[in-house]
Amino acid sequence: MQKIIDFKKYTSINIGGKHKVKVINNIGDYKKYTIVGRGNNLLVSNNPPLLAMLGDEFDYIIQKNGKLIVGASTSSGKLLSYCRKNDIANFEFLAKLPGSIGGLAKMNAGLKQWEIFNYIYSIKTVDGNILKENIPHTYRHTDIKNIVYEVTFDTQKGFDREKQNMFVKMRDNQPNLPSAGSCFKNPKEHSAGYLIEKVGLKGHTIGGMAFSSVHANFLVNMGDGTFDEAIKLISLAKQKIKDEFNINLEEELIIL
Ligand SMILES: Cc1cc2nc3c(=O)[nH]c(=O)nc-3n(C[C@H](O)[C@H](O)[C@H](O)COP(=O)(O)OP(=O)(O)OC[C@H]3O[C@@H](n4cnc5c(N)ncnc54)[C@H](O)[C@@H]3O)c2cc1C
Repeated sequence: MQKIIDFKKYTSINIGGKHKVKVINNIGDYKKYTIVGRGNNLLVSNNPPLLAMLGDEFDYIIQKNGKLIVGASTSSGKLLSYCRKNDIANFEFLAKLPGSIGGLAKMNAGLKQWEIFNYIYSIKTVDGNILKENIPHTYRHTDIKNIVYEVTFDTQKGFDREKQNMFVKMRDNQPNLPSAGSCFKNPKEHSAGYLIEKVGLKGHTIGGMAFSSVHANFLVNMGDGTFDEAIKLISLAKQKIKDEFNINLEEELIIL
């Protein structure tokens, strides 16, 4: 099955045209496709690779033998609600962290020391269930090369509403405009936001795109921003930060 997805509407940064996307409802080998999740970390060009997405078959949560088994197209919000309702700890950080469980696992998404790999037991790909210990992962990076169909989590009792409120509050300094979250990964030396500000690009605009004046590491769409404008800003920031600090910034958002 195929769908036409309008990526301007689908992605959180509101950029991208209409493209055919294969809908996957069975585990298989789809090497020629690039998988998209819920589009919260994507910058889609006018000429993307062949795209696929997981269908509703992979939207489920099962609790079994002290584990949570979650289909990879399940949203972070759904898992958070489930944990709140069933008094399960450790998933409070998913408040305001948008995405599918597959996308979150691939990106090792998280905030500060709370990242999704902390709570993962195993992931399921076409090669079967792979234990976390066998998947190299670091800050916002994993070695996952295949489509994730399912993620199994360890569980502990005790959902903490105060912790959830703390995570919501941590978002107070986030801009309200459409974005893909952080544009760059934080290098070891300084935060990416600090570096963008230091080279004078906080609030800098090209066409309809800007580095937010609220939080410089958010590349925001002010209404009719385009892929090319986003790429120009990304290149400008990388160049200036290389010249002034000799630091190579690496994009956190995924360019397709
Ligand atoms: C307002 C805002 C705030 C954000 N804050 C944070 C934050 O605090 N911390 C953080 O880490 N991120 C943050 N993000 C980014 C985003 O939430 C995460 O990167 C999330 O993991 C994206 O999930 P997704 O399903 O939308 O993936 P997509 O954006 O669709 O895809 C992201 C990547 O994952 C891959 N992928 C998607 N699904 C699968 C799958 N099933 N199997 C294998 N690979 C897959 C894609 O190929 C792509 O490489 C934020 C985004 C927004 C818009």
